[in-house]
Order: sequence, then structure tokens, then C-alpha cells
Amino acid sequence: MDTIQTLLYKIDLVDLVQEYTPLQLINGVYRGCCPIHGGHNNTSFCILDNRYYCHSCGATGDAIKFYCEMESLSFYQAVEALADKYEVSTDDEKYQREKDLYRENAITANSFHKKVNTVTDYLVNKRGLSLDTINEFQLGYDSGGYLGVDVAGIIIPIQDHYGRIVGFSKRRLDSGKPKYKNTKENEIFHKGSLLFNYHRAVKMIKHTKKLHVVEGYIDVLSAHEQGLACVGYLGGRPTQQQLKILMEIQRLYKGDVTFILAVDNPLEDDAGRNALIKTRESIMKYTPELNVRVPIYPT
Ligand SMILES: [Zn+2]
Repeated sequence: MDTIQTLLYKIDLVDLVQEYTPLQLINGVYRGCCPIHGGHNNTSFCILDNRYYCHSCGATGDAIKFYCEMESLSFYQAVEALADKYEVSTDDEKYQREKDLYRENAITANSFHKKVNTVTDYLVNKRGLSLDTINEFQLGYDSGGYLGVDVAGIIIPIQDHYGRIVGFSKRRLDSGKPKYKNTKENEIFHKGSLLFNYHRAVKMIKHTKKLHVVEGYIDVLSAHEQGLACVGYLGGRPTQQQLKILMEIQRLYKGDVTFILAVDNPLEDDAGRNALIKTRESIMKYTPELNVRVPIYPT
């Protein structure tokens, strides 16, 4: 086991949470007031399978995420502090290698984001994004060369469930193909097992009880701009792992959440229709209880 796995194995989340707030065992589930949003409803926060959920503020995660939230720490600051507290070594190679990769990604994102002014006009006027969204998502600009794409493009950092940057997508600004090029799969970047914008969207579902599930990055950015909770599956259809993540969200909201699967108009567009048929097959196979609706737009 590496540092992260050992930590998560060693930390009893119930004990860690109880350093902040008392929990009670009710019908086999530990519940209490949520220390993250400072709630007074003593059943909104619960712990299941070493993960915490708050039905009120939408916070969810494991022990590391909890510690990040409570102590206002970055992922690696929390890991180092917890490793100290629980006497877990941080010497293992995998941990150090991954930490270096995340650090490099953070530096890369920052350097492209500094150049975003070149495309601010395009993003604001053509794409309808605000400066807040551009900055929040740390969008960037590359004049050519990054990810093997020799023309200029927009750089979109891709974050995991902890908010760490795992990789990038480059959207070329000319009409050449492919329109998007992603970081190659590596130790920390597994496109099929993450949902783009999950860490922001999961906290927003509590307002509307809806999660929009779309294919592309720009769709997610536009939906976020409109105040919608939205994630992207970044492929032809959601993978088994991505559907399982949606199922976990449905459990968190005790079934009271609807997933709005927005594909290209399935009545008009062959690719959209085929993607929808294939997506339906995957849902029936892996997560048949998933509460999915597909909007059909007027033509
Ligand atoms: Zn809460």
C-alpha cells in the first residue's frame, strides 16, 4: 500500500470527525451536526463505508478530504499533516512520484492561465463565459506546441474529486481536427474514471436536486456559468466507473436527485441517437436504478 492507501486504511473516519463534532449511532449509521457547514441539524451529516456525506450542504469525501475542509489545507498539506499525526511514512516512491506530477500540473496550469488574456475576448464574447468562470476553471492559452498540437488553443485543466489537476485538454482554435487533445493516460490521469467538474457540481446539487451530465468541457463551463450543477464524461458515452459515481451521488441524496443527460439532439442527429442508445445499454447493464432523464429540444 502507498502512503494514501495506508492513511485511509489507518484513519477511522468516525474518530477523526469526533475531534470536531460528536456523532451518534442511529440505526447502524453514525450521524451528527455537519462540522463543515456548521449546521445544527443533528442528522444531516452521516458516515457510511468510511466516507462522509452531508445531506444539507452536499459535502462528501473521505478522511483526507474531510481534513482539507476542516483545516483549510490543500490535498498534500492534509496528507502530510495526517501522515504525521497517524505515523504513516511518506517515503514511498509512488506517493512522491505522483506528488511531483500534481505539482508539475499546477505549475503548468498557472503558466498557461497567465496567458489567457489573448483569448479572453473569444471566451467572453463567443462562448459566453464570464471572467469569474475563466479564472475559477483556470482556463489558459497556448500559442502552439502543447500536447503535440502545433496550433494555438485553449488549455482546460482537468481536476479530480479532490480538486487536484490530473491533466489537461487543449481545444484548438482553428477548424482542424481533432478539436480536442487530452493529456495521455498516466499514473494520475484516467479520463474514464473521473467526471469533469465533479468537485464543484456535487456541492451544488442540494439546491436543485438535479445534475446535468454532458459530453464536453465547454458545455460544462456554459452550464456552470448558468448556475447549473453539471459534470462532463469526456467521451462518446459515460463509462461504467462514471455511472457508478452518479449512482453514489443518487445514494447520497437518498434517491432525490435526477440526472439530466444532455446529448446532441437524438431526433435530428445520428451520432447523438447512437450515443444515446449505447448510453442506455450501459445504464441498464451497470446502474439500472439510476434516475436519468433525456431532454428533447424543439427543432
Ligand atoms: Zn454540511
